[in-house]
Amino acid sequence: MKLLKTYLDRCVQCGACMSACSKAWAKEDSPELSRVRVKTVTGMADIRVCDQCGGCIAVCPSLALSRDKDGVVRIDRKKCTSCLMCVGFCPSASMFFSDRIPSPYKCVACGICVRVCPEGALEIIDTGKEG
Ligand code: SF4
Ligand code: SF4
Repeated sequence: MKLLKTYLDRCVQCGACMSACSKAWAKEDSPELSRVRVKTVTGMADIRVCDQCGGCIAVCPSLALSRDKDGVVRIDRKKCTSCLMCVGFCPSASMFFSDRIPSPYKCVACGICVRVCPEGALEIIDTGKEG
């Protein structure tokens, strides 16, 4: 199972990951549209991103969520009705929603942010488990 692993102690909160992610997936440089969220909590970095736990798959009434061949949880936008059950359920609060985008969005472990992080605070790993 592929996922984006974070190293909080290396993060300098520059925002390069959010910029790259939102530009790649929402065609706009906007932290609120990024699938990874970095903020500062009492002087330390806090990075919120999907850990591919898959708990949301069972709560979706429209069967719009499933794992792909890499174990990454994906949203089928044709099936999604934007009921936001998954957004409310997500234990890591990393299923995001904006009223500017029709469906919720989440990290798909593409690795684009990994390549722009100047501090090596992000890495795509394969857990070797199916999920
Ligand atoms: S918002 Fe879409 S993906 Fe999420 S639970 Fe509802 S129908 Fe499923
Ligand atoms: S791995 Fe891809 S989808 Fe996930 S936060 Fe990074 S750029 Fe966004």
